[in-house]
Amino acid sequence: MDQLSLYDQILGLTAPWHTTSVDLDERSEQVSVTVKFDQSSVISCPICNKHARIYDFRRRSWRHLDTCQFKTIITADVPRIECSEHSVQTLQVPWADQSSHYSKLFEERVLYLAKENTISAVSRHLRLSWSCIDRVIQRGISRGLSRRWEVNCFNLHVDETSIGKGHHYITILSNHKNQVLAISDGRSSDSLLECLRSLPIQCLSKTRVLSMDMSAAYIKAANEFFGLRAKKMISIDHFHVAKILIKAVEEIRKSDVKKLPNLERLNIHRNRYVWLRNGRHLPEHLQPEIEYQRDIMQDTAIAWTLKEKARDIWHGHEPRTITSWKHWFRLVKESALRPLITAAETIKKNLRGIMVAMTTGTSNAKAEAINKTIKNLARISHGYRNKERYKNMIYLRLGKLDLRLDH
Ligand SMILES: [Zn+2]
Repeated sequence: MDQLSLYDQILGLTAPWHTTSVDLDERSEQVSVTVKFDQSSVISCPICNKHARIYDFRRRSWRHLDTCQFKTIITADVPRIECSEHSVQTLQVPWADQSSHYSKLFEERVLYLAKENTISAVSRHLRLSWSCIDRVIQRGISRGLSRRWEVNCFNLHVDETSIGKGHHYITILSNHKNQVLAISDGRSSDSLLECLRSLPIQCLSKTRVLSMDMSAAYIKAANEFFGLRAKKMISIDHFHVAKILIKAVEEIRKSDVKKLPNLERLNIHRNRYVWLRNGRHLPEHLQPEIEYQRDIMQDTAIAWTLKEKARDIWHGHEPRTITSWKHWFRLVKESALRPLITAAETIKKNLRGIMVAMTTGTSNAKAEAINKTIKNLARISHGYRNKERYKNMIYLRLGKLDLRLDH
């Protein structure tokens, strides 16, 4: 096979396109491939397919996959045609997408590498700037999002995540298959509405559960979007309930410690994590420590016991009923511990969503896994200070989108 036919094959060219020259410039380590359009072929309008005539040519270049480590550039004079109905139109070249500076195979290589590596690694490997990589990824994501017809929306989860150290947030909507479905700026009710509106409506008609934290903004958006269905759908993650209870216990523990003599404080400080433990899995060797601390820090002990009791209701060690919670609210009130009462008020306000989570057995373990991956994405490269890039990387890694180019 001669060199020109070899490149015809590599680029997947068929008539009326064919390679006319391949030049190697060793100094600049570059291979230049010239492709020509056969003017004697029948030409038709790309819109109506009717016979058309050549108007003029525009010279264009595309970066292609390297040839034996040499940067490879395809150059062609692309014909513009004149159609009686659609005036002047540029013909589509088969090796690249319209308006792209890269061949389809090159774009696919960028996407493939960016899925597994940091942007800086892709940039080094392909000798391509960050902004060029961004553009290829952006096009890929837009392509993938526009192709979605069937999305699994049965079990949804919404959460916010912060970007960098600033107070910039994004809202992320995912499903129980660990797939990120939509991302929007901010953490307001509009943010969640924007996410929901970007999904095929027929898929959202199948939604049974929408799990979230106790954010009033998200609850408002869910009510607005799903109407009456929202009541049975909103499910509050156990994780968020546990978080506010742990925070309350910690606050009470700190004020208990302040009342202790200095000597005692140091020992207590060393063993402070004992109060964060799950009471059901407390190792035997920690038992004496908790007994001791219980004696000298009674408020903490009461708060901890109540926190454990809430956990028992959630996990069904006590009846998973509203009555159990009502009883718990009463006990909290009797304790007269301010931070715990505040936490209980929040729980009370969100009790419907908590009951949905308990009865549907919705687990937020997967959502937490997604969150962890997203946080890692931010960490592995300083480049994610750029919000749009960060969003695209989340889609790229977790969106399960079809990013392929049509060949
Ligand atoms: Zn036409």
